[in-house]
Amino acid sequence: MAGNRTFTMIKPDAVESGNIGNIIQMITDAGFEIKAMKYTQLTEEQAKEFYAVHAERPFYGELVEYMISGPIVAAILEKENAVEDFRKLIGATDPSEAEEGTIRKKYAESKAKNAVHGSDSDENAKVEGEFHFAAAEVVA
Ligand code: UDP
Ligand code: MG
Repeated sequence: MAGNRTFTMIKPDAVESGNIGNIIQMITDAGFEIKAMKYTQLTEEQAKEFYAVHAERPFYGELVEYMISGPIVAAILEKENAVEDFRKLIGATDPSEAEEGTIRKKYAESKAKNAVHGSDSDENAKVEGEFHFAAAEVVA
């Protein structure tokens, strides 16, 4: 059975371009409930660990540099079928391939600076949520 929580980050490009509010509006309009949220900036160590699965990819170094380049908003979201529905809402990794009406189509600058993160599985949603939030920071 599909889980009901996912983890997201509004990435540095979207914070810098002033789109935090627009993106949160799209998320809540789509029926996601916010269970935890914080405005923060990742350390290099945190960004490396968060994206460790991409460590061997050619873009890893740039990805880490970008993710620590400015503040982000991290959040845990709840909705039925959360992981899959949120991936649909954000659209393809490369905004030029993302469908109309998706967050990345509207607000992403490029395949690298693509405005938002969304977990790709229930297992990763749990790991990523716990990476950023203590249990006491998540509302029931
Ligand atoms: N990324 C990149 N170049 C690529 C592929 C990915 O810079 O060719 C970055 C981009 O910011 C992406 C992140 O690495 O969101 C993680 O990649 P993944 O394939 O997991 O994409 P996502 O799950 O975010 O759509
Ligand atoms: Mg991914």
